[in-house]
Amino acid sequence: MKFVFATNNKHKLQEVRDIMGSKAEILSMNDIGCNDDIPETADTLEGNALIKARYIYDKYKINCFADDTGLEVEALNGEPGIYSARYAGNSHDSEANMRKLLHNLTGEKNRNAQFRTVIALIINGEEILFNGIVKGTITEEKMGGSGFGYDPIFIPEGYSESFAQMSNDEKNRISHRFRATKQLCEYLETLQ
Ligand code: IMP
Repeated sequence: MKFVFATNNKHKLQEVRDIMGSKAEILSMNDIGCNDDIPETADTLEGNALIKARYIYDKYKINCFADDTGLEVEALNGEPGIYSARYAGNSHDSEANMRKLLHNLTGEKNRNAQFRTVIALIINGEEILFNGIVKGTITEEKMGGSGFGYDPIFIPEGYSESFAQMSNDEKNRISHRFRATKQLCEYLETLQ
């Protein structure tokens, strides 16, 4: 089986290829000569993942999947959600995003949050969605220096370290993206 993963993010590609192993060949957008910037204009993670997958499927007629991820904070009614990358503005500045989030939670006792990844798969024209969630809490201040995005201020449930204090391997074994990708893999296995 061969699929295009609608991304050019090398980190995500490697993660998905590692989980898939030899079960499927995963091509990036670069691999099929696509450097288009696909606009993510939907108001849900599901909608944005579908926009990206449909774009590739309609243009290249090849089985494909796309993902979209957001950090959903309970006390902020699910914000930043689809705006996670650009919470503090279009510069996609992680430090500014974390500052804004911590500021908006000042004095808030309810620190519950979850990372959620949606993967939209299109296979022979059929659309299927997979949802990977990791629940946790938002810290009072940054903890740790590895990872990316909101990692320094997110502690997954059952742990006392933030994502940014874990090794990549440890984080990848429990992450939202891992859980969504695992479901995708399990589904593909049922087709073989
Ligand atoms: P994307 O849809 O995977 O590009 O994720 C959107 C935004 O969510 C990113 O720009 C990050 O700010 C945040 N994000 C996604 N996954 C993670 C993660 O594993 N750790 C921390 N932040 C993340």
